[in-house]
Amino acid sequence: MSRYWSDIVQQLTPYVPGEQPVLAHPVKLNTNESPCPPSPRVVEAIRSELGDNGESLRRYPDPTARKLRETVAAHHGISADQVFAGNGSDEVLAHVFLALLKHDKPILFPDITYSFYPTYARLYDVAYRAVPVDDAFAIRVDDYFAPNGGLLIANPNAPTGHALPLADIERLVAGNTESVVVVDEAYVDFGAQSAVSLIAKYPNLLVVHTTSKSRSLAGMRVGFAFGNATLIDALNRVKDSFNSYPLDRLAQAAAQAAYEDDAWFRASCAQVIASRERLSAGLRELGFVVVPSAANFVFVSHPAHDAGRLAAQLREKEIIVRHFKLPRIDAYLRISIGTDAECAALLEALRVYVG
Ligand SMILES: *Cc1c(COP(=O)(O)O)cnc(C)c1O
Repeated sequence: MSRYWSDIVQQLTPYVPGEQPVLAHPVKLNTNESPCPPSPRVVEAIRSELGDNGESLRRYPDPTARKLRETVAAHHGISADQVFAGNGSDEVLAHVFLALLKHDKPILFPDITYSFYPTYARLYDVAYRAVPVDDAFAIRVDDYFAPNGGLLIANPNAPTGHALPLADIERLVAGNTESVVVVDEAYVDFGAQSAVSLIAKYPNLLVVHTTSKSRSLAGMRVGFAFGNATLIDALNRVKDSFNSYPLDRLAQAAAQAAYEDDAWFRASCAQVIASRERLSAGLRELGFVVVPSAANFVFVSHPAHDAGRLAAQLREKEIIVRHFKLPRIDAYLRISIGTDAECAALLEALRVYVG
C-alpha cells in the first residue's frame, strides 16, 4: 500500500499466475502449456519476419493484424471482420469486460471456473454472480436463464476439464438474447465441440480462442474473439482506446504460420489427448479420482492424501502442479499433460507418496 496508489489499485486483488520456475529442468505441469513444440513453420516465419538484421523491427506492426485475421477466419470458415486479435486471450477477455458486459445486472459465470473472471469483474467494476456447478463439476445450464448482464462460460471448463455439448451452449445463447454470451474455448481443441459454427446465427455469441495451449505458442501471446461484426467492432473500439498495436510483428507472423500448418496442429492435439488418457489411467491405478477431461490437463484428488501436501512433495522433486486453495476444490490437483517422460516422472514420484 502507498498513499500514491489510486483508489482502484488499493481495492484490487490481482490474479496470481501459475509459477514460472527458474529451475534448470523442472517437470512443469502447472500452466497447461503444450508439451509439443510449435510447427517448424512458425520458427521459419519468425526468422523471415525478422530478416537478416532485424530491419523490420524499426517499423510498427499492422495494428489490425489483417493477414493473421484473414488466415484464422479462413480456417474457421468466417470472415475477417468477425475476428478480433489480441495480446493473449486474457487481453481479449479484459476488453470483453469493458466492451460487451453490462453493469446494470450481474454477469453470471460458474463458481468453479477460470479465476481471472472475478479478477476482471473487480477491475472493471462489473457485478457478478458465481453460479454453483453440480457435485460432478458440471455446469447446470438451467441456472443461467435469470436476467443478467452477460454470461461467461469456459468450455471445456477450467480447472475441471468438464465440457458441455454444443446443444447446451446453443441453449444458453438462444435463451439469453438480451445479453452477450462469451464462450471461452481455450481448451476446445482437446475434445469439445466449438461454438464458432453458431456465430452466423446468433448476434449475441462471442467465442474466445488462444494459441497458447493447442498451438504451442504461450510465449507469443496471441488470442482471438470470434463473433458478429458489431461485437468485434466494440472490441476494436476498446483496443484503439488502449493500445493500437497489441500484437508485435513476430507474434503475428508466428500465429499465422501456426494456423497454416494444420497437420502439425492436429498431430499435437492427438498426442496430448492420447497422453491424457494414459496419464488418467495411471493416476486411477494409484487410487486417484480423475475427473473426465476434455482439456490438456486432468483434475484429480486422492481419498487418502491431502492435495496441498502432495503438491509440496512434488515441488521438492521439481515437479510442479497446480493446487488451488479455494472452496470446493482444495482437495484437487490440476495437472497439465506433459511429455511422456514428464508424465512418467510424475507417476513415479506419486507412486512413492501414495503407494
Ligand atoms: C489459459 C487460459 C486463458 C488465457 O490464455 P492466453 O491466451 O495465454 O492469455 C484464457 N482462458 C482460459 C480458460 C485459460 O485456461
